[in-house]
Amino acid sequence: MSDFDVKISNARIVDGKNKEYIGSIGVKDGRIIETGKVTGDAEREIDASGLYALPGFVDPHSHGDWGFAWYPNCESAVMQGCTTVVAGQCGLSPAPLREYVQAPGVLWDEVYEKEPYLYHGKSLHKLIDINELHEAKFGWKIEYKTMGDYFELLRKQGIGINFVPLVGHGTIKYCVMGEDYKREAKPEEVSEMKALIHQAMVEGCRGFSIGLDYDPDVFASKEEIDECVAVLKEYDGIYVPHWRRTGRRRNIKMGSYSAEPIEGIKEVIETARKTGVRLNIAHLAPGWHTVPPMTPMIGEAIGKATLKPIDDAIEEGLDINFDVIPWECWEPFPYLCSLHFTQWLRLLGSREKLVEWLKIDEFRQKAWDEIEEGKLFQRLVINPCVNPHWAENFKIVTHKNPEYAGKTLAEAAKIHGKDAWNTLCDLIVLDPDSMGAHTDYRGIEAQMKEFFKHRLGTAGLDVGIRDDKDVMNRNPPYATPLPDTFSGYPKFFMRYVRDRDFLTMEEAVQKTSTIPAKTYKLKDRGTLLPGGYADIVLMDLEKLDHTGHPELTTTYPKGIPYVLVNGKVVVDAGVHTGTRPGVILTREA
Ligand SMILES: [Zn+2]
Repeated sequence: MSDFDVKISNARIVDGKNKEYIGSIGVKDGRIIETGKVTGDAEREIDASGLYALPGFVDPHSHGDWGFAWYPNCESAVMQGCTTVVAGQCGLSPAPLREYVQAPGVLWDEVYEKEPYLYHGKSLHKLIDINELHEAKFGWKIEYKTMGDYFELLRKQGIGINFVPLVGHGTIKYCVMGEDYKREAKPEEVSEMKALIHQAMVEGCRGFSIGLDYDPDVFASKEEIDECVAVLKEYDGIYVPHWRRTGRRRNIKMGSYSAEPIEGIKEVIETARKTGVRLNIAHLAPGWHTVPPMTPMIGEAIGKATLKPIDDAIEEGLDINFDVIPWECWEPFPYLCSLHFTQWLRLLGSREKLVEWLKIDEFRQKAWDEIEEGKLFQRLVINPCVNPHWAENFKIVTHKNPEYAGKTLAEAAKIHGKDAWNTLCDLIVLDPDSMGAHTDYRGIEAQMKEFFKHRLGTAGLDVGIRDDKDVMNRNPPYATPLPDTFSGYPKFFMRYVRDRDFLTMEEAVQKTSTIPAKTYKLKDRGTLLPGGYADIVLMDLEKLDHTGHPELTTTYPKGIPYVLVNGKVVVDAGVHTGTRPGVILTREA
């Protein structure tokens, strides 16, 4: 018998304990046995000359949830080096389930074919109806009821990476209140929710998430939230809120005003203070809406000011961590026309038909009026109702006319000689296949750097799990998975370690593995030390790259040739082996 199952030789090891050295790693029975100068033979030897060996990435904020059941190989995660994800975020977990369920993203095409809508689709559906569509697509019905049942299902089929489960407040609220969720819960309903949280914690969840900008959590009272979070205390669970940045994101009319997001950060800190429960603030973002628009200087100032109440609370003795989405483009609707014409695309059915109508001035005006009336959901950064600088946050990613490609809409309008709205309409008419994205491109990097400079700032991708097949929705507005789904971590290392020289490799390892593992109390993970689990990424930093367009990536990255999960080689010479050595990291695990 060999001394090791796998031996990785000549790697540049960054171990998560402030050590970087050239050496070898001996792996046996899922664990790292020896590092450094490793002698002895192995079943499998991987020559890692020229490669970094890093602890597998631990994504502290994933929407993997049901993705584990649909894509058990977890291709999109593991192919980019992710070996563990914390899922069940933003208030939504795959269970517990009773009569109703929120339609999952991968079924939107099917759901909206059955129940078309113009402005706001129904989010809650009868499980029995969703199951009909689910069975047609995946060949099986959702029959599990509890998180415990869901774990059983995953254990039977196996999973490619490790899954840290949270239970979602929204899911629990739907269980208890069904379709009648748009009100404060009654005391007996809150008691029932608490019982369901207890159950999920006993079954192995490590914490509880909430989505305070979304249905149904946006309707929860402070008392309800505090009472639910307090349940976690006896389990040493963690509270992971999608904090209130805007409140309910509907009917935002011209001139609307919502509270500054910083109030939402203070709100979740207050809950942590009151309940004494550990807190991980999900996807930290600027604490203020910025008009005048964000510039690097304002971005830096806002970054610092946003961190202030967090640092004060840590100083006071609260246990707080936070994660940050490392990439600035998070629009899953890739066409230029999908960003402001979603309702018309749905109604008309195609980009080509939209183009015909966009040639008519009255139609342009009508579409604009609907935006002003707040009839459709729009991201604040590109919503003209609240952001006079919306056109500066709007990027024309590709266009037939090279003069416009890569420009913001505001820049394009200057070249085109018309206002932003008519420029947008004209550009779509000129090239209906033009791709677009949005974000604040100017100050966001400066602000993000402040978050990542902070010793606790970790990188959380906020994406689902899937494979690279059939990625484009058939129905307008043609959604695709977010680009980070496929290469969020490679881009993080390219951006902050290799190209910008902003973080050292060791700091980047802390932010992508070591700290998230600590935050969620994952035993023996997040480092490459003898005795720990062998979750290992081999990375070619020079060759590291996304494939396809950076803002519209839907394919696996380059530069991650090997990934081991619990000592098994899951990515081998850049190819997924089909092995599923992942485990569910329940509270006791
Ligand atoms: Zn969220």
